[in-house]
Amino acid sequence: MGIYAVTGSASGMGRAVTEQLREAGHTVIGVDLEEADVVADLSTGHGRTQAIRAVLESSGGRLDGVVLAAGLGPAPGPDRPRLIAQVNYFGVVDLLEGWRGALAAAGGAKVVVFSSNSTTTTPAVPRRTINAFLAGDADRAVKSVRLFGKVAPSIIYAGSKIAVSRWVRRTAVRPEWAGSGIRLNALAPGAIMTPLLEKQLSTPSEAKAIRSFPVPVGGFGDAEKLGAWVVFMLSDNADFLCGSVVFVDGGSDAYFRAGDW
Ligand code: NAD
Repeated sequence: MGIYAVTGSASGMGRAVTEQLREAGHTVIGVDLEEADVVADLSTGHGRTQAIRAVLESSGGRLDGVVLAAGLGPAPGPDRPRLIAQVNYFGVVDLLEGWRGALAAAGGAKVVVFSSNSTTTTPAVPRRTINAFLAGDADRAVKSVRLFGKVAPSIIYAGSKIAVSRWVRRTAVRPEWAGSGIRLNALAPGAIMTPLLEKQLSTPSEAKAIRSFPVPVGGFGDAEKLGAWVVFMLSDNADFLCGSVVFVDGGSDAYFRAGDW
């Protein structure tokens, strides 16, 4: 049985993964703002350092897998763009850098990062936004999407997820990762029925945009089933999966990009 860390373990897909791993007999160290083994705010550098340390202590310095599900959706709000940037990008990258040694120690560890199909379905995300994230500059990433004094939450959200997917692909193939037996991959869901989506659907303007978005199979995805995808990506069956971004989105990515490759 393995030892896993799951961020965003208190709700939605992170919670589903946590429950499924525990039911299978694994030890899970959940990280979240509340109702978790490790309570930490991943929107701050201090909170991320706390989370890294606490998980290393609880796991004894060996992690068989990590799931990075903590994240914020593209809701409006004055401080929201900064929080989205901090949690969705740095709350993944900083933690994985801090846990790399513990993952390598397991010899065959698996990592699943939550991306989103907004990476390929959101138009006009500036290249400079992605570059700012990859350079580690959250302020510049947020400023880069400011238009007429306002930041569109959907653009910074998609930017954070594009950047994290690109980081996953670049990092997964490095000798310190692939060569240390770590399999680093991303899952890119479409609209999945979780508290995050429920909140968006309760705002009329957001609900209209979500419901009119093309989903070839119709409806919304199920959090438990997405949890099962993650569990599969953590299993030995995924040994040959490295640097992949797996879309589970009811066909929206295919609908928009059928001719891309
Ligand atoms: P959710 O809101 O149900 O759960 C997210 C969890 O992250 C919550 O428990 C929340 O407390 C935690 N979190 C948020 N900010 C945090 C912080 N500062 N520090 C620590 N924890 C924090 O969301 P979900 O729908 O299960 O989303 C999981 C992941 O999937 C997210 O990264 C999200 O961006 C991504 N995603 C979701 C959807 C969707 O439709 N639900 C679609 C694409 C991608």
